[in-house]
Amino acid sequence: MTGPERATRALVRLDAIQTNVQVVRRALAPATMMWAVVKANAYGHGAVPVARAALEAGADALAVALPEEGWALRQAGIGSPILVLGPILPEQAASVVGADLDAIVFSPAVIEALARAAADRGRPARVHLKVDTGMGRVGAQPDDVAALAERIVAERALQWAGLMTHLADADHEEREWTRGQYRQLLRVVEGLRRRGWAPPVHAANSAGALRFPGLQADGVRVGLALYGVAPWAGAPPLEPALALQSVVTMAKRVPAGFRVGYGHTYETAEPLTIATVAAGYADGVRRGLSNRGAAIVGGRRVPIVGQVSMDQLTLAVPREVRVQVGDPVVLLGRQGGAAVSAGDWAAWLDTIPYEVLCGIGARVPRTYLPPPA
Ligand SMILES: *Cc1c(COP(=O)(O)O)cnc(C)c1O
Repeated sequence: MTGPERATRALVRLDAIQTNVQVVRRALAPATMMWAVVKANAYGHGAVPVARAALEAGADALAVALPEEGWALRQAGIGSPILVLGPILPEQAASVVGADLDAIVFSPAVIEALARAAADRGRPARVHLKVDTGMGRVGAQPDDVAALAERIVAERALQWAGLMTHLADADHEEREWTRGQYRQLLRVVEGLRRRGWAPPVHAANSAGALRFPGLQADGVRVGLALYGVAPWAGAPPLEPALALQSVVTMAKRVPAGFRVGYGHTYETAEPLTIATVAAGYADGVRRGLSNRGAAIVGGRRVPIVGQVSMDQLTLAVPREVRVQVGDPVVLLGRQGGAAVSAGDWAAWLDTIPYEVLCGIGARVPRTYLPPPA
């Protein structure tokens, strides 16, 4: 017997992911390495199917935030290089090496822990020296890079796989900050070159890779663009990969003065149809969309009214639009000529599309088109 199937689901188009990989690929020189960033369950899309689709479409490697995310990809049988973008602690070194993951380093303690773990295992560990050129979060200060590099090259068990930095503001209208990070990076690269060291350099995220070709360097780490969200207004066309779909569970014609939902935050001003939908904030349809957001039913974009509750929400549908129980509702995606994007949600919620996509609830089943290999 199969269990009950939920009508609310996220439909992930792997062909859209592949198209987006190719859009980015075309913006790169052929030898430039492309990491497909699949951290946080591939921004909510499902790490394993997205990773496979991206590799098949031309990504060279994968990147995750956490060692356990890399481990899960290895468990699924993925053999490509996997870079752990987040800082690791010395006690995580053995599991990182054990899963054959690339690590970032910016402290002697982690360099030593990785070298020890690699020596124990009898296989080299690949490390990327991270320099802080202006993100101000993690990474070595530029003046400390040479000393850390010396430690890396002195460790026989380590393979120096890259010098990396992260951009703080590549999607910002004002380009000066990114240019400053670039100049800082060039100074570091020059300093290393004078010592005879020339590790592969990577700096750019989606916005950096598509907007600053000079910053593509030897590799780019692309997340958002893979999912079809434009990293800035001038980005090349990308295909949104995720649609969040649900159904109408009740449709009722109500008079003016009808109150809806917790706290009665909405009262109809005229007769209309209230359509109840089987999705709520536990699915990632954030409560902040109450009386702000919109969804699509009957090919029409209609407002979300009343408070979004944990498992349900309500739409105000004009009387002339026919809706009935079981009708499909698009919370994110398109239907007919209407569309609601992660960018729309981000504007309504005063956040960024990243948070919208990562916030799609774990209980929402993901289905894939075409079905994953
Ligand atoms: C998440 C992340 C990326 C990808 O950023 P996008 O803006 O999604 O392309 C690249 N590099 C690092 C270090 C990251 O943490």
